Amino acid sequence: NVESAWGGPLALPPGTSGEKFAKFLAGVGDVCGKSEITLVSSQDQLKGGWYLEQSKVHDMHSIYDEDFFVASAVVTPSSVPQVQALVRLANEYEIPLWPISIGRNVGYGGAAPRVRGSVVVDMGKNMNKVLSVDEDSASCLLEPGVTYSELYDYLIEHNLHEKLWIDVPDLGGGSVVGNCLDRGVGYTPYGDHFMMHCGMEIVLPNGELYRTGMGAMPDPTQPGFDPDAPLHEQPPNKCWQLFNYGFGPYLDGIFTQSSLGIVTKMGMWLMPNPGGFQSYLVTVPNEEDLHPLVETIRPLRLQNILPNVPTIRYITLDAAVLGHKKQYVSYEGPITEEDKRAIEKKLQLGRWNFYGAVYGPPVIRDAMLSVVKEAFLKIPGAKFLLPEDMKENSVLHIRSKTLRGIPTYDELNWLDWEPNGVHLFFAPISKVSGDDAMKQYEVSKRRFEEAGMDFIGTFTVGMREMHHIVSVVFPRGNPKKRDRAVWLIRTLIDDCAKHGWGEYRTHIGLMDQIQGTYSFNDNIQRKLNETIKNAIDPKGILAPGKSGIWPSKYDKKQWVL
Ligand code: ADP
Repeated sequence: NVESAWGGPLALPPGTSGEKFAKFLAGVGDVCGKSEITLVSSQDQLKGGWYLEQSKVHDMHSIYDEDFFVASAVVTPSSVPQVQALVRLANEYEIPLWPISIGRNVGYGGAAPRVRGSVVVDMGKNMNKVLSVDEDSASCLLEPGVTYSELYDYLIEHNLHEKLWIDVPDLGGGSVVGNCLDRGVGYTPYGDHFMMHCGMEIVLPNGELYRTGMGAMPDPTQPGFDPDAPLHEQPPNKCWQLFNYGFGPYLDGIFTQSSLGIVTKMGMWLMPNPGGFQSYLVTVPNEEDLHPLVETIRPLRLQNILPNVPTIRYITLDAAVLGHKKQYVSYEGPITEEDKRAIEKKLQLGRWNFYGAVYGPPVIRDAMLSVVKEAFLKIPGAKFLLPEDMKENSVLHIRSKTLRGIPTYDELNWLDWEPNGVHLFFAPISKVSGDDAMKQYEVSKRRFEEAGMDFIGTFTVGMREMHHIVSVVFPRGNPKKRDRAVWLIRTLIDDCAKHGWGEYRTHIGLMDQIQGTYSFNDNIQRKLNETIKNAIDPKGILAPGKSGIWPSKYDKKQWVL
């Protein structure tokens, strides 16, 4: 049992004795089953792992020492009542919990907790069912462990995949629920995942169960309705996955990028097959062509002629998907202008490459494509390409799947740009304007040059803003290069704040700095979040430090990074 196997964890939860922790784990064993607990007691447990066999105990893409963000134990509950009991035990013993769904979260800290020694609550291992798919309303209800690939496979198995499409991010192995909770994005017209969620079931920090939106209203008309049944078994309201807001203040947002609850179910809207789609690529030859490209995109996106979340990718990003740096050049340090030109030629690409798609029956697609083509080809040197115009296995072929909501894993290749690469995302928001895009790119590129690293980035175009996703890749086990990468991202965060650009999401090690940049009215955003946090989680047991929000129990001076 847990106690006899006790060698002590590598990291105890803060302020907790070994004895108290052992008692807590014994209680967890009674609730979830002892076999559902993994104690993190040896450095060997921090070795190995990759995207599909991700570590649940620490950050595989560590930006500090490997055991800096390490869990004391991982628990894998199997039911909502188990999660509730776990949360109540954590309150009793004042143990910090860090909930994850799948815990891949590449570039943002993986499964690792912000507070060393937290207990990771792995919601994905046993709670991984597609609970329902409503064909008529094109919506589904999911448990946290359902990955994009699994949801896609489920639709195929149930012969629904031609009728209902999903939206996927760059990689198909993430959790649909986890990605939405961290406000991730995909690339179809349903690319804003939080916008497309509908209804959550949440275990609150005191163990109570809450259903948001229409889920708050019992529905006696539903088959199996029984007011005396356990809450988690009550059939939900028939409108739970149809109308997001219910009645009264809308709370779903405070459970995203947050430490206020453990989500046990979530509704998502699916995209009815629009009648087909056609992906395309527009390449532009020069750095400064980003300006007219973005100016062309804005009106088309606002008019919904660009109906999805298209991307503008820098040449190095596409090069990294298709090969290692060593396959292109034999030196270290940023790729020269001359070599970028050679890569562009080899890959049939431009300096910036815009991947878009139109959706609908052929007649609509043709009409939209002709508008798109005419608009973009006004940019001198621009080329318009369809998949059949490209060599096989081009990035356009890969993006075509993503733009249709088919999960892929090809974008993982970025990590191998440097041998055994570690990966970190820098992700500021920008205005959809040529001036802003150019300025943000130039600020970033200059710092990358100072750091002696390749700028690898993409602008993903939302409805009225762009997420500029910049990939910082450095080789594992090289503390000098790692520290340089951390210097780079920390400097960029401050540079961007000076221009009024904030990040939409970040690595656990950088959350304090970024929360600090959202400083209007003496950091009222952080203070309001802390007031809410302390009110509903007075012992600070859930995800302390997530998004730079610290419960009062934690002395910020000691914890802030
Ligand atoms: P993915 O594997 O899809 O990348 P994760 O499971 O790592 O996503 O989740 C990303 C982040 O979202 C986690 O670090 C955590 O902060 C939050 N999160 C994920 N699942 C839950 C959940 N079920 N309840 C509360 N927060 C969650």
